[in-house]
Amino acid sequence: APYQGLLIEAEYSRASLPRNMIENSMFEEEPDVVDLAKDSTFPALDPDEVVYEPRSSRLLVRGLGENDLDDEEEDYESSARLLGMSFMNRSSTRSPSASPYIRQAPPRSCSRPSARMLVVGVFILVLVTSMAMVLYFLPGCTFTKTGCPKANSSTPMELVYPKSTNGELFPWNELRLPASVRPVNYDLSLTPNLTSMTFTGRTIINMIIQHNTKRVVLHSSEINIIKATFQSVEVKVLEYKPWQQIAVSFPGDLKEGQVCVLTLDYTANLSHTYDGFYNSSYNDKTGAKRVLAATQFEPQAARKAFPCFDEPAFKATFLVRITREPEYIALSNMPKAKTTTLPSGMLEDEFEQTSVNMSTYLVAFIVANFTSITRNVSNTLVSVYSVPEKKEHTQYALDTASRLLQFYNTVFDIDYPLRKLDLVAIPDFLAGAMENWGLITFRETSLLVQNQSSLLDKQLIANVVAHELAHQWFGNLVTMRWWNDLWLSEGFATYWQYASLMTEFPQLYLGNVFLEERFKAMAKDSLNSSHPVSVSAQVNTPEQVSEMFDSITYEKGASLLLMLNSTLPDGQFRKGLLEYLRQYRGSNTVTDDLWNSITRVAVQESVSDMMRTWTLQKGFPLVTVSRKGGEVTLTQEHFLLSTDNTTHTSSLWHIPVTYVNDSCSSAPSCRQMFTLRNKTATLKVSESVKWLKLNYMNTGFYIVHYGDEGWAALIDALKTDVSTLTPHDRASLIHNIFSLSRLGRVSFRQVLSLLDYTTNETETAPLTEALSQLSSVYRLLDKRPELGLVARMKAYILGHFGPLMDSQDWGVEESVSSQERRSALLEVACSLGRQNCTDQATALYEQWTNSNQTNRIPGDLQRAVFSVAAQSDSGWLSLLDTYRLTTYDSEKRKILQALASTQDPRRIVWILNTVLEGGIIHTQELPLVISTVSDGFAGHLFVWDFVKESWDRIIEKFPVGSYSIQSIVKSTTSQFSTQTHLEEVQGFFSSLKERGSRMRSVQEALETIRLNQHWMDRNLATLRDWL
Ligand SMILES: [Zn+2]
Repeated sequence: APYQGLLIEAEYSRASLPRNMIENSMFEEEPDVVDLAKDSTFPALDPDEVVYEPRSSRLLVRGLGENDLDDEEEDYESSARLLGMSFMNRSSTRSPSASPYIRQAPPRSCSRPSARMLVVGVFILVLVTSMAMVLYFLPGCTFTKTGCPKANSSTPMELVYPKSTNGELFPWNELRLPASVRPVNYDLSLTPNLTSMTFTGRTIINMIIQHNTKRVVLHSSEINIIKATFQSVEVKVLEYKPWQQIAVSFPGDLKEGQVCVLTLDYTANLSHTYDGFYNSSYNDKTGAKRVLAATQFEPQAARKAFPCFDEPAFKATFLVRITREPEYIALSNMPKAKTTTLPSGMLEDEFEQTSVNMSTYLVAFIVANFTSITRNVSNTLVSVYSVPEKKEHTQYALDTASRLLQFYNTVFDIDYPLRKLDLVAIPDFLAGAMENWGLITFRETSLLVQNQSSLLDKQLIANVVAHELAHQWFGNLVTMRWWNDLWLSEGFATYWQYASLMTEFPQLYLGNVFLEERFKAMAKDSLNSSHPVSVSAQVNTPEQVSEMFDSITYEKGASLLLMLNSTLPDGQFRKGLLEYLRQYRGSNTVTDDLWNSITRVAVQESVSDMMRTWTLQKGFPLVTVSRKGGEVTLTQEHFLLSTDNTTHTSSLWHIPVTYVNDSCSSAPSCRQMFTLRNKTATLKVSESVKWLKLNYMNTGFYIVHYGDEGWAALIDALKTDVSTLTPHDRASLIHNIFSLSRLGRVSFRQVLSLLDYTTNETETAPLTEALSQLSSVYRLLDKRPELGLVARMKAYILGHFGPLMDSQDWGVEESVSSQERRSALLEVACSLGRQNCTDQATALYEQWTNSNQTNRIPGDLQRAVFSVAAQSDSGWLSLLDTYRLTTYDSEKRKILQALASTQDPRRIVWILNTVLEGGIIHTQELPLVISTVSDGFAGHLFVWDFVKESWDRIIEKFPVGSYSIQSIVKSTTSQFSTQTHLEEVQGFFSSLKERGSRMRSVQEALETIRLNQHWMDRNLATLRDWL
């Protein structure tokens, strides 16, 4: 589970008020590039940067450049192979963007000339020379996903090394570790001091030499090594800080097959950010501050807690010992083996050595004052831990985890391999949750819930638990070889979270959530800044690795698995997965391994051929239908939003097109299938067929355009009888027509014409989709000086959905689907100020406060009610008091969103500063607060200023490229639609240089603003005419 992903995604989509309003990625689009350098509107780098840009010197000094060329070439080759297109225009500009390293790079020995012209001259000469060398040698691809394309070893480049901290040459020159040494077992002893916030450690690594070598290179970051011994002899450790590597060199060769032991003693500070071995604090019920120490290692922070080979393919076993004060408990991946009292009075807990080989990013330990509840489930002891005062909120998580553990044991046909499974709620935790093997860590809001909470609140908890548990197989047991294939872990965990809950907990009604997530992934994937699910380009720097945690990896990955499962005959998908798990358990894989496993058991044509078209290219297809009598012609093209309508790639997909028609349209047995492999193909239907609906239940990852006549026939059919199509098919039509309007293929008038039918719509999925799409348009207009249009848009929404909004019941509602529908309708109604809604909300709020909060507000209505209350002075202040005191996490989050929805500028500024400060509001909530504040008119301007001014403090807490940063960039910029804002955003991000200018999310933001601008230019007139 997601280091950043699903949990936060789930939280944000559900949590941020008018949840439909949060994601307005709908208006995004982009040209076909991933780097700013190619963006013609992006300002060119200034001359200073060109002269001193350290990456250029790196080419010379360390020979880094070859990696870039390598990767560029891989990218080039695989894409060209796949797409059969020319990549001439994208050869040389991709930048390495090794930002964090650049910043810390020590002064190097190359010239520091005094005159700029001299520098430029030398630079150019040097650059040309080094490029030539690099092109000639093309080395270091040790251990990359595709292995070494060239026979050259890296020997010639060994002359080109960076300098260690002590001035000696560092014996390695690549970001990825050499494959010559493999760790077998780690013996870790750690003694954290929760008063001084430091720790000491000893790491003993048993390793085996794979190829003769003169060096051992591993990762270490922010660790102060005091003493090192190799085979019991004290040795000198070299450190190259920019790449977080340390090394020991030897005069002679270590021989292949030799077993060695490296022992390192060190001290370090507990981290004050959210990764590594970090400290966290909270106030207990007496108000006293309590501290704890916990770990978050994915993707690359284990190296901050102990020196290690910190890449997912270096699996090993681990034995952990933690020394602690008696008042705390210690937890790690494995059950505790013994506790020893030390002479100092401290206690040392020793945990069993792991019974499985695992990647470093899955190691975890915690020292805290937690309590737990437990249950035995088929030979595994399942426990849920929390701070003592929240113990009563752990039962639901325990029940859910226990049931899902049994489910996965059965469905994967391999038992969970450890004897215990802990789920731990950590008070201040960045990600939604983290799937550490045997010790899953969560935000409190992702794990704790009251028994009497609504099913909708429980749905979020179940979602996160199901995701993390699925990882114990997909991710932990079978692990991606490198982060470029992260989707093999996250796409699967996301897929199984829905699949398991839809089977085991049908009352949680996950089908609608999964559908929304698929729409969300499409919005991002229709931009040029998107990336293939399985990335063949460079993923090396921490920033690039962090950026892999996004909705393409999670939700598109899951969507492709859904599509494949619904395409293959019953049972074959699971059979293929079992084959994959059996074959690769305990080891690492690349995407092709998965497709080959499934192809081996599937009776159909090659699954590899089909799926490679989906995982190796970015984007997805638009299928256009045109019909002449019984002849239906299908045409595919890349659904790429752009402002110039000229960028068209020649991408082709193997599309499993499904369809139903008017004579049989809603039952699963009506579905027919046709595989579209070429640009166009024709299928025959009976002349009497009145209409076709493609992509049955929207299980395929593509959008369909039916042409004027096709749309008209479908619209007629829906006006006659809404239930002629399933609710998910109706939602799919609404989603598709809005998308086509953004692409410029249908007019907004046609969109409104489809929406006419929705006055008769009562199902959750189509209603929430329509509200979400309309709210996005509304919010965009709301941020422009279009007062008249805003009023008319509001009148349109209320005209269509007002009666349904007014007829909603405000009592306790049992069904999740009804709760989703009701909360979506009422949140929009109240935010648009519909009297009936605000009156009811105010009345409920008063009952709640007058009863001293014993007269509960139904969970699904809380956000609407609190947000109405927060608009008044007294309401806002009383909510703030409640926020400080309440221990109910789901309620707390909704109160926070309500507080952030205020339109009062002073309060907006206060809440932004307070959350960044931490304390009353945990800093973990910053992305949520920012996205909520951004929805409002006043907020969206303040928040942009705030982000600009606070950028450096923000990236101290949230790593550049991380999901939190992606979310912050998106929510602060995605409602801009003017040239002025475009230039403003460009200017700000380009000034960041290595502090974030190269992030994909920046590219996405610029694309989105341009598309918003374009959409406005094209549609304002229509809106004036037709609203
Ligand atoms: Zn995950």
